[in-house]
Amino acid sequence: MTDTLVTFPSGSLTERATVRFVDVDSGRQRVLTDRTPFHPVDHGWPDQGPDRGTLDRGGRSAAVLDCVVGATDGTDLFVGADVPVRRGEPGWSFVVVHTVDAGVLELAAGDEVTLTVDGEYRAALSAGHTGCHLAALALNAALAGRWRKTPRTDGLGRPDFDGAAIVSSRIEPFGSVDEYRLGRSLRKSGFDAAGLADELPALTAAVNATLAGWVGTGGAVRVETAGPALIDRREWVCELPDGTARIACGGTHVTGLTELGAVGVSLELGDEGQRLTMRTATGG
Ligand SMILES: [Zn+2]
Repeated sequence: MTDTLVTFPSGSLTERATVRFVDVDSGRQRVLTDRTPFHPVDHGWPDQGPDRGTLDRGGRSAAVLDCVVGATDGTDLFVGADVPVRRGEPGWSFVVVHTVDAGVLELAAGDEVTLTVDGEYRAALSAGHTGCHLAALALNAALAGRWRKTPRTDGLGRPDFDGAAIVSSRIEPFGSVDEYRLGRSLRKSGFDAAGLADELPALTAAVNATLAGWVGTGGAVRVETAGPALIDRREWVCELPDGTARIACGGTHVTGLTELGAVGVSLELGDEGQRLTMRTATGG
């Protein structure tokens, strides 16, 4: 089997495809196709959830209940967190696993099917994901003065607080929640968190002012891909007044900042100052 070809990076919502493999597990059918427009949950960094939509064949339609990254060595199929190898491992294929209720469609390898993604829900997640990256860059800018050493920089040349401290990111329709750890390793790498609690209102205002300025420019957004397969490297690219921002990303995005409407964040400290939570909301 070869890696699944994915068309969600270009914004595709529907594809004709050929079934490559199908099996039944606990009353559910797992379906692999040669290509798909569905964005699957990543096995290593599950920030953006699965697309919704349908898998159709011969006038019948099955709701796609889940969609995740899997890997196969040609004998066994491993799904999500059970994937035992890194992408690119010789002899392994990385595939998009669509789940539907068993019994709705009679499916066999070689069948032609149509995969169709719910466009409204996709658009809401795309807005949430672009807003998430934009907010991360604005947070980096607002915290730049707190670094005593120069750490790795982000795509705009600023200290990459987001990259150094993030522990989890969850993309929601028209929003996101990012969790950052302000522990000893971050302090060791040169970040000064002293007095952050008192500064939160000013920090929030600074992030929101940067976001308002950026969104107002209506810069273009695109996903650049190194190739059409699921495992090929993809990057979120956004034209901003400060430069062209790039973030490695497997998700879906809007095509321009005007689609976002107003973007704003709220910041909260928890775990006795050891955890910073950033909630981002876009218009829509
Ligand atoms: Zn991303």
